[in-house]
Amino acid sequence: MILAAALPRKQNYFKSMDWLIGEIQREGVDVRLSCQGNLAVIDDGKPDAVILATGASPAVRLPHADSSIITAWEVLAGREVGKRVLILGGGMVGMETAEFLSEKGCQVTVITSREGMEKLATDMEGTTRALLLERLSASEISFVFAAKVVEVGKGRILVSQGEKRQWLEAETIISAQGSQSNQDLLRALEGKVPQILSIGDCVEPRSAKEAIHEGFWAGLQV
Ligand SMILES: Cc1cc2nc3c(=O)[nH]c(=O)nc-3n(C[C@H](O)[C@H](O)[C@H](O)COP(=O)(O)OP(=O)(O)OC[C@H]3O[C@@H](n4cnc5c(N)ncnc54)[C@H](O)[C@@H]3O)c2cc1C
Repeated sequence: MILAAALPRKQNYFKSMDWLIGEIQREGVDVRLSCQGNLAVIDDGKPDAVILATGASPAVRLPHADSSIITAWEVLAGREVGKRVLILGGGMVGMETAEFLSEKGCQVTVITSREGMEKLATDMEGTTRALLLERLSASEISFVFAAKVVEVGKGRILVSQGEKRQWLEAETIISAQGSQSNQDLLRALEGKVPQILSIGDCVEPRSAKEAIHEGFWAGLQV
């Protein structure tokens, strides 16, 4: 939620965060910060149940690994970018990052396998998405639709659109290619604690609504 709240139009997320933090304090929950939950730490507490809410991590899906490529999550967390930027991915996080950087004065090009404006950010709530698409259409952001990444070089990407191939260059290349659930801890704990309940993005990356809803039901089950 901290990453979402970094976006200018989502600053009201801080209100939800403040409310949730207030509830935790009011209920006297023992919160251990800067603590990596692992088998040893959890075993130590001898819990009757573990509710796993380990979330998801950004997925980078490229023909080969390239350490110069950064993720949209890093950008929203404050990482500096160059003036010319390429963004890979046409989902909500890619589109919101594109708008965020364009409004900061970057020249942004989005590369996506999706086939047109009407296919962008389909993982977003309807009204917010309609407004975002309107702003994107009126923006200076360039789009390369129906594109496939063929090769990644330093500061450039070879993209194919059917028969056509072109190299696109930028100072910063940003991956916004979705996320994958963090399930390592679930695998480590299986069979070792009496009850495990997984909630939120660690089940499958979705939205805060599902995470909160599943957290509520997990609380009723233990
Ligand atoms: C840029 C962006 C914009 C978004 N916008 C929206 C939006 O507009 N509306 C919406 O509903 N959703 C939005 N989402 C999605 C939403 O933020 C997630 O669906 C939601 O935060 C999932 O909650 P969660 O508790 O499952 O996981 P998270 O919020 O990811 O929390 C998981 C936490 O567990 C920690 N963790 C992982 N492993 C361990 C471990 N072993 N020990 C201790 N801690 C650990 C992680 O560090 C993290 O702090 C957005 C996401 C992003 C990235």
